Amino acid sequence: MKQTPANKKALTNMVPGIITAEGFLGDDHRALTEIIAEDQSHFKRENLDWEEVAEKLQYFMDQGRKGLGEPITVDENWIVRTDEARGHLACPWEDGVFRKINAILKNKKNSLTLFYTELTVHLLKEHQFLEGKGSTFRLEPHLIKEVLYG
Ligand SMILES: [Zn+2]
Repeated sequence: MKQTPANKKALTNMVPGIITAEGFLGDDHRALTEIIAEDQSHFKRENLDWEEVAEKLQYFMDQGRKGLGEPITVDENWIVRTDEARGHLACPWEDGVFRKINAILKNKKNSLTLFYTELTVHLLKEHQFLEGKGSTFRLEPHLIKEVLYG
């Protein structure tokens, strides 16, 4: 994958202090295209579908919001808790702004959890970007699989 101008711009928005205090890359120093390409191959290996994963994460977040900050059980096997803060966050690719909603999704069978936001669902769905290694909101493909399908 080539380094596009759009990715170059996105990268400058991902450093700490621009959109979020922590930024999006953790301590990952690889090129953005490399991070994305590797996660695309992980998704393939885990047999995960980007659209479907995004839909499920969005679904659990929407259900979780009904708990108004308290943990609630969804479809028997999952527990979701959401937190909402004032304000919005822009996508680093500058194609949208998102509410500050965090979700913690736990699979009751294996007790594994995913921690994600409205913005990370967008990043996953539209940019196939799971954030850099070491980032608080990085979504590891194997963990996505265990939590959503385990
Ligand atoms: Zn975007």
